This record gives sequence, C-alpha cells and structure tokens, in this order.
Amino acid sequence: MWDLLITDIAGGGAIAVAGERIAWTGPAASVPERATEVWSAGGRVVTPGLVDCHTHLVFGGDRSGEWEQRLAGAGYEAIAAAGGGIAATVRATRAASEDDLLDSAVARAAAMAARGVTTVEVKSGYGLDLDTELRMLRVARRIPERVPVDVVTTFLGAHVVPPEFEGDPDGYLDLVCGEVLPAVAAEGLADAVDAFCERMAFDAARLDRLLATATGLGLGVKLHADQLSDGDGAALAARHGALSADHLEHTSPGGVAALAAAGTVAVLLPGAAYVLGDETVPPVDALRAAGVPMAVATDCNPGTSPLVSLPLALHLACTRFGLTVAEALAGATTHAARALGLAGEAGVIAPGARADLVVWDADHPAQIVYWVGLDPVAAVLKRGHFVEEA
Ligand SMILES: [Zn+2]
Repeated sequence: MWDLLITDIAGGGAIAVAGERIAWTGPAASVPERATEVWSAGGRVVTPGLVDCHTHLVFGGDRSGEWEQRLAGAGYEAIAAAGGGIAATVRATRAASEDDLLDSAVARAAAMAARGVTTVEVKSGYGLDLDTELRMLRVARRIPERVPVDVVTTFLGAHVVPPEFEGDPDGYLDLVCGEVLPAVAAEGLADAVDAFCERMAFDAARLDRLLATATGLGLGVKLHADQLSDGDGAALAARHGALSADHLEHTSPGGVAALAAAGTVAVLLPGAAYVLGDETVPPVDALRAAGVPMAVATDCNPGTSPLVSLPLALHLACTRFGLTVAEALAGATTHAARALGLAGEAGVIAPGARADLVVWDADHPAQIVYWVGLDPVAAVLKRGHFVEEA
C-alpha cells in the first residue's frame, strides 16, 4: 500500500509515493496498487521539484547602491578596483552574526521554494577567512530547519583574493589549501569545492593545486569559468573531472570539447548576464552539438544576480541564450541534479528518487517558463509531504 497516489496529471500520468520516495510512475489508467491517499492534480502539469544548482544565497548586506552606480555607467571591474563588488559583501558578511546571516538567507530560500525549488546549492566565498567561511557553510546547512528544501553546500574560498592578501594570490591559496579547506572537510561542511577562474580572481594555473586538493579530500569540484574572459576555465574544470563548469560566456570550442569528453555539466546563468548587461551569449549551439548537458541556475548573489526566481532564470535562458523550453526545464531538474552529484536522486520523476514534485497552474510545460514573474506554483511535495497548496 502506497502512501500517496497523484492522479489526473496533464498527459494522463500518475505518480505513487511511499515514504520520502517515488514508488511508481505510469499511466493513470493502469495503476497496479492502492494508496492510503489519492490526490488529483486536476489535469495540471507536474514536474520534479526544481533544483537551483548555483547560488550564493548566504551573505551580509546587499549591493543595491552599487547597482545604482552601474546604472549610471560604472563598470563591474572598476567598481571592484575601488573596493566595491565582492569585497563590499565580504566586509558585510564578516560583520554579520550567524543568526543574522541565517535570517536573511532563509528569507531568500523561502522565496525560491515558493517558486518551485526543492533543492538548492549554496556557496561560501564571502568570508575568505577561516571563521567566516565556516560560519557561512554552517548557516547554509541550517536552512532546511526553516525552509522545505534540501541544501547542497559548496566551499568557494577561492572566490577572490581578500584585502589582507592583496597582490599575493599564492599566499592566500596557501591558506585556503593548507588550513581553511581541511577545516571545512573535517567538519563535513562542504559537498564540493568551487573557485572563480578569472583575471580579477585566480588564473587556471593557480587553481590546479586547489582542485587537486579538493579531489584528494574526496570532494566534488566545480568552477566559475570563462564568465568575463576566456581564462581556459572549462578545460581546467574538465581536467579535474568537475561536476560542473559555470557561466561559460567566453568558452572556446576547445573548452566545449573538453567538457563533453569529461561529462561535465555546463551551468548557464542568464541572470548575471542580464544584470551586467552582458550581451555575450554562452556557446549554446556548440554545447548542444557536443552533447554537453546544460543546467540553468539563478546565481542568486548580491552583486551580479539578485535573482530568486528559477522560473524567471529559465525564461531568460530561452529568450537570451536560445534554449528550448524542454532544455530549460531539463536544465532546472535532471541536469541541475547531475551538476550537484544528485543524478537519479533529485530532479527526476522515477522510482527511487526523492518524492520532490511541483504541481503547476499550467496545462502545458511552456506555461512554467513563459510567464515573467508569475511563477505559477500550485502545490509542492517535498520528500513525500505537501508543503504548499493553493
Ligand atoms: Zn556564482
């Protein structure tokens, strides 16, 4: 006897749930077993719970003032050189208590969950010292106490060189590899390690050591690659068997081929390109032709992508990057889960997967992506339990 049977799904399907897992899926006309509770989707579309596989959800302060400066013409790299940008968020995050960081992160995570997200990746990287990096990751781990999401954590200690190591990126990476990352691993606070491979952060040659240290500790690796310039980031990620390479606006054909050979997921982040006014589009045609799985995420962060709606990110991926609706939806489910090492566990409706589902006020999947700001969530099932119902 199953716990729950969802029937009358658009297209004539049904889904059975036992405990926290999906037990069966198939045509509603041939359900082989009974369930304690039967729930009609009323002909509406049901998808896997959305997976936001790239966010910087935990941070102090915001950067709305800097955004106003950019509207007036200031460039991202010029603002960073003047002490703004990531450095401003580092100051605010170091000054924030664990409870304050948690409260603001929970508000953003709740907004994401209300828009269909049931699994979210959260990066550190605004501490850039031992105490604050650990505090950010502890906060990320606590989000599920207050929001019905699973959280996957990523250590992004190599985000930028902090002010106390200005001009000495190798000295800072010594600290990251020798002290901070081992402490993070010892506390079990991170599922993966990420870095910002860019001329304003760390070049590919420097990051080799960090990624090798991470894989040596048994952690997955990811990379912010080729966002503002082609820094050979995609090839670096592929060389280390990365789960994902993210951004990729400036990735070369050679980088695309390397990702394909390594089975690395390309994570596209149209919110950042949109907010930065960057017209450069990732090589979507080449990624598609090479068979590289493409995920889409919000990149929610206070500087370049203050975006909490994953459906809106999907809309932008279609209108600005040229994805189809089907590619966009796969990018926020199956491929996003793979980018987090959760293939088969999340982002899929199949026996054995987590029973994370979204019922949409939609009779066709395109309606999920088509609206700008409506995010038509009707109900969410998280690990077998309804958490929101309209
Ligand atoms: Zn990012």
